[in-house]
Amino acid sequence: MKTTKSAELYAKAQQHLVGGVNSPVRAFKSVGGSPIFIEKGLGSKIYDVDGNEYIDFVQAYGPMILGHRAPAVESALEETLKVGYAFGATTELEIQLAEIVCDAFPHMDKVRFVNSGTEAVFSALRLARAYTGKDKIIKFSGCYHGHADSLLVAAGSGVATFSLPDSKGVPADAVKNTIIAEYNNLESVKALVEAFPNDIAAMIIEPIAGNMGVVLPEPAFIEGIQKLARENNILIIVDEVMTGFRSKFGGAQDLIGLKADITTFGKIIGGGFPVGAYGARDEIMQKVSPLGDMYQAGTLSGNPMSMSAGLATLKELKKQNPYAQFEKNAAFLEETFYQAAKKHGVDIQVNRFGSMLTPFFTAEKVTNFKTAQQADTQKFKTFFWAMMEKGVFLPPSQFESWFLSSAMTQEDLQKVATAIDYALQQVAN
Ligand code: PLP
Repeated sequence: MKTTKSAELYAKAQQHLVGGVNSPVRAFKSVGGSPIFIEKGLGSKIYDVDGNEYIDFVQAYGPMILGHRAPAVESALEETLKVGYAFGATTELEIQLAEIVCDAFPHMDKVRFVNSGTEAVFSALRLARAYTGKDKIIKFSGCYHGHADSLLVAAGSGVATFSLPDSKGVPADAVKNTIIAEYNNLESVKALVEAFPNDIAAMIIEPIAGNMGVVLPEPAFIEGIQKLARENNILIIVDEVMTGFRSKFGGAQDLIGLKADITTFGKIIGGGFPVGAYGARDEIMQKVSPLGDMYQAGTLSGNPMSMSAGLATLKELKKQNPYAQFEKNAAFLEETFYQAAKKHGVDIQVNRFGSMLTPFFTAEKVTNFKTAQQADTQKFKTFFWAMMEKGVFLPPSQFESWFLSSAMTQEDLQKVATAIDYALQQVAN
């Protein structure tokens, strides 16, 4: 694999970009080696500056569900570009995107667009607090909700009541109202509700966790937290930044039977442009400015380019309806993994849901952050570089989800299957 130009750019990038990147995972720290620099993308593939071609499972960490440069998205963007792309006044595109998003989420009447998933989530927390008049938020260890101060909180062992900030620069005060429970552990949630009976505004959850690698919620856990929330006037914030429109045209919340009070969005609804959104039923959204007294604003919120790309992406998703095919393709990859792992004597657990998938290098079932962390990251590192060598671009961390795109062909999948067999052989050696 030739990487001369990427290496040169990486060296140059260090001078004025922190660590050569604008988001830490892009520096490839957890797999070692030098990151690749991308020249272009088309369909299921991306191409680096050295001319290497990769089948892309990163998908810009989620938004590119149709693959790169989907014709429908590109022509919508061309139209928008011609008429201007930032006004500080509402455009019809915002109304159209709001309508399609609200229609797909039955418990949501109104939505507010912002510029990132992080912004969506911290606005949703503010809203939950404004609506309930309470301050504490339950967060689940291993779930990531963006980099707002109050959510950058260490997992804590077992039921940690008060948490420590996970990043320098976050004051202890900023996280004092964030309390941590364990994913798939109803007792840990019950303990927090008992400890703070009148103080919890909301619990925030990834309906399918993707940020500790893919972890599925157990039905009894979902049922249990929902009951606890209702009985104690706690709102449920379902963070669909990653999962929204990914496994069905709508939310993963419907597929797992979780009814959100507030839903957060990002990624796919911006079609590759900066976006976020939060939405809820009318009664809750009435709190948001200018209707209510919860302030939240943004110079570029509802930006025409993001709205246009998001709208075209959703319309195209509706037309293509790729969800059954995602299921088939992911099942094929899972089967490929287990067969190759058996052949080469490698312990592996594949967790998947719709178009999300993570192979964990462990013999134990992965059901929460603790079990995810038992995965062998050294093996992942070997696996990652072997896949790169064979032309498959993966998220450079064991604790991320792979994303399938509707642009992937059966030929691509066969190539990936061959790569998996080769990479697991390298892991075994
Ligand atoms: N919430 C979830 C579930 C996410 O996966 C992410 C990002 O990966 C975020 C929030 C933050 O979104 P952004 O990176 O757009 O700020």
